[in-house]
Amino acid sequence: MIQINSNFLQLKPSYLFTEIVNRTSAYAQAHPDADILKLGVGDVRGPLVPVVIDAMHKAVDDMATVERFHGYGLEEGPLWLRRRVAEFDYAPLGIQLEDNEIFISDGAGSDLGNLTDILDVHNRVAISDPVYPAYFDTNVMAGREIDLLPCTPENDFCPALPERVPDLIYLCSPNNPTGTAMTRKQLQRWVDYARDNHALIIFDCAYEAFIQDDDVPHSIYEIPGAKECAIEVRSFSKTAGFTGVRCGYTVVPNELYGYSNTGERVALRPLWLRRVCTKYNGTCYIAERAGEAVLTDLGRKQCLERINEYHHNARIIRSGLEAIGMQVYGGVNSPYIWMRTPDNMSSWQYFDHLLNTVQVVCTPGVGFGKHGEGFVRFSAFGLTSVAEQAIARLTQS
Ligand code: PLP
Repeated sequence: MIQINSNFLQLKPSYLFTEIVNRTSAYAQAHPDADILKLGVGDVRGPLVPVVIDAMHKAVDDMATVERFHGYGLEEGPLWLRRRVAEFDYAPLGIQLEDNEIFISDGAGSDLGNLTDILDVHNRVAISDPVYPAYFDTNVMAGREIDLLPCTPENDFCPALPERVPDLIYLCSPNNPTGTAMTRKQLQRWVDYARDNHALIIFDCAYEAFIQDDDVPHSIYEIPGAKECAIEVRSFSKTAGFTGVRCGYTVVPNELYGYSNTGERVALRPLWLRRVCTKYNGTCYIAERAGEAVLTDLGRKQCLERINEYHHNARIIRSGLEAIGMQVYGGVNSPYIWMRTPDNMSSWQYFDHLLNTVQVVCTPGVGFGKHGEGFVRFSAFGLTSVAEQAIARLTQS
């Protein structure tokens, strides 16, 4: 008799985006003439930038020849792309990486979910709250104990060091959903804490390309000691609009160690390589060539032009909300603006209020964790005209 992984029964239903769609569609059906403005979506806008489109066309042409056809490659990704990541992304930050420390992936989501395969189920996990739900759910699936680290305006959205020492810590900066980012000093505190306690940090910097403040590190490895305690997960999704292309990379430094159940010190990188080679057959060649094109001067310039549009939208939303007296956070080093709901409304009450009064859709903060209750998230990924109209309606209401 086949037995299921009963941990799955502990998962809370993931209804956030379905519920947003349901409530929005119900409103649209009841008000067919309504012009609904969507500021909830966390997905990027097309098209891809020109260098990426060219690179993908060329990669398809490669696949159309006998000589340049690419079949199975290295599971951890081709050397030409791993070297490009090291030289173009990390070296300018003063970070030297070995080729074998970089793993090309099909995006951050998969690796964030899969990394814990190499970690024991008895590790105690600490996860900031509110946050991108994947960290929580993957650890529920594995059956680990989880402590939530509240991130609120009171602690500047930087979690306090936990009372119960965790073995595994998830940090996300710039953060989804709060749009805030950790400073060097804040991150140093966590790195020191992790090293002191032989804990591992999984650092998700999927929104790194949005960083504008000098004091916010682009990589955790800018922090002294981080190679001894942190895995970094990166993605082209938000940097270059690859949410439908699927390519990212994860860094597992050679200096990282964990402990076996007999107390032996074991390097993590070879374990992760073994896991990748067993359960993954490599990223799509066309997506890899597209990623390579992002990591060029022209690629970076073109991607930054798009990101600047998102920053522009974020400024419109942020300053518009501030002008009507709302308490807003984030939106500077991130495409997300986090807002406290007025009059102590719950996240969903405010969602309904906005939809019914000004036909604007936001994302209820409680969908990202219990400490998100009483907040909503606005996204700057839409068109500038949509951001402008939404703010105009809110101002006039
Ligand atoms: N990490 C964070 C914080 C995200 O917000 C997202 C997607 O929204 C991801 C990871 C997943 O990114 P990817 O498209 O690379 O899987």
